[in-house]
Amino acid sequence: ADAQQEEHIVMLPFMAHGHLIPFLALATQIHQTTGFTITIATTPLNIHYLRRSSTTANHRQIRLVALPFNSSDHGLPPNTENTEAVPLSQLITLIYASTTLEAPCHQLLADITAKDGRPPICIISDVVHGWATRVAQKVQTVNVSFTACGAYGAATYVSLWQNLPHRRSPETDEYFSVPGFPNSCRFHRSQIHQFLRAADGNDSWSRYFRPQIVLSLESSFGWLCNTAEEIEPLGLEALRKVTKLPVWTIGPLLPPTMLKLNHSSSSSSSSSNLKSLILGQHCGKECEISPKKCLEWLDLHPQGSVLYISFGSQNTISASQMMELAKGLEDSGKPFIWVVRPPIGFDLKGEFKAEWLPDGFEERMLERKQGMLVRSWAPQLEILCHKSTGAFLSHCGWNSVMESLSQGVPIIGWPLAAEQAYNAKMMVEEMGVCVEITRIETSVGREEVKSVIDLVMEENGKRDKR
Ligand code: UDP
Repeated sequence: ADAQQEEHIVMLPFMAHGHLIPFLALATQIHQTTGFTITIATTPLNIHYLRRSSTTANHRQIRLVALPFNSSDHGLPPNTENTEAVPLSQLITLIYASTTLEAPCHQLLADITAKDGRPPICIISDVVHGWATRVAQKVQTVNVSFTACGAYGAATYVSLWQNLPHRRSPETDEYFSVPGFPNSCRFHRSQIHQFLRAADGNDSWSRYFRPQIVLSLESSFGWLCNTAEEIEPLGLEALRKVTKLPVWTIGPLLPPTMLKLNHSSSSSSSSSNLKSLILGQHCGKECEISPKKCLEWLDLHPQGSVLYISFGSQNTISASQMMELAKGLEDSGKPFIWVVRPPIGFDLKGEFKAEWLPDGFEERMLERKQGMLVRSWAPQLEILCHKSTGAFLSHCGWNSVMESLSQGVPIIGWPLAAEQAYNAKMMVEEMGVCVEITRIETSVGREEVKSVIDLVMEENGKRDKR
């Protein structure tokens, strides 16, 4: 046991909220099961978020190390260290800037090696930090890649960047196959994110992702995936084919808070103790509305009757789609909690203007006890764990998917970016737990919003939920 105490793992998450959360959950789990010392290294601002988390506060063995990074040096606005802080047009600049962490990261590994008298047993790096394999080799340890996505999404993403199959099939074909997946599993052009759709191998996105993925595939010891064999058999088969590496399933990595909440009733869960747990779990994010208020509102409604709506930490929909969603919700009459963000084209963290919603919408919804709007950040874990929550209209980010499905809450999919459309496809075709309402750049009208909400909420109401 003493020898184990000295083992050390260094983790390098990508600078996005949806990546920091599973990395932290993985760090906690490894530390709790092995007693190993875990060092998480990332930029100062992201370390600050992690430091505010109760998980790290509770486990002093998880060391947080800030690597020097100054966004202004890269032509980014000051304090732009996280995908949430950067406009979409500058996202690729932030991604390129992340490669400057390689040198300080190497220094950190060299220091740890000198202090411990041996290198850490491995680096666990985000798949997009392919350069971590070079660092690992320099200090004579191995790099294990960790994808914050599910297996199906990761396999699709990697195969699309590697093979660009959508560029090879004729433009007139709406559907195409993706190497690694069976031919019968066809993908639609509209499921591909704009950067990938335009990628020809020489654009700035391809120039980053293709070599990083190659590095991670050629030099990694293996891949860790936040999923389970039972959840995604097809996705895992594809991921193993695409990576040609061992893929270990270590998920679902649910925040410890969620497991705790699952066992508590809604009334006891409104204690201040719980509130601090929840606040901590959000990587330092403060909920604008108290978890207690959300739970009290949920308590007013029958089991499985409330629709929770959120597009994750960094995405939003267009102003016209926001209007249609609001109208469809009002027409459906179903209770809801909606995390509203300024629409596309506006500062995500800016003030939310009433004009983006139908006239008097918020007041009417509150008066009828039909809907509660939460601005910017909601206590998602608590909402999904509450018995009144019956469905989740989600952008299908992988953390949201895992959190929702672990609570038996079906999903209305509205994928917007990254690998979200593949997650939705997998949930519709392989799992049968999702109805996709619209995706990325397609649009939906109020009637369809109402009919999909009615379908999912009413179907769900028919079955015994938990
Ligand atoms: N989240 C939250 N409150 C919100 C929005 C998001 O707690 O109002 C949390 C959510 O529980 C999940 C994470 O933020 O753990 C979002 O990760 P996901 O992979 O779903 O999407 P991303 O933000 O990476 O697009």
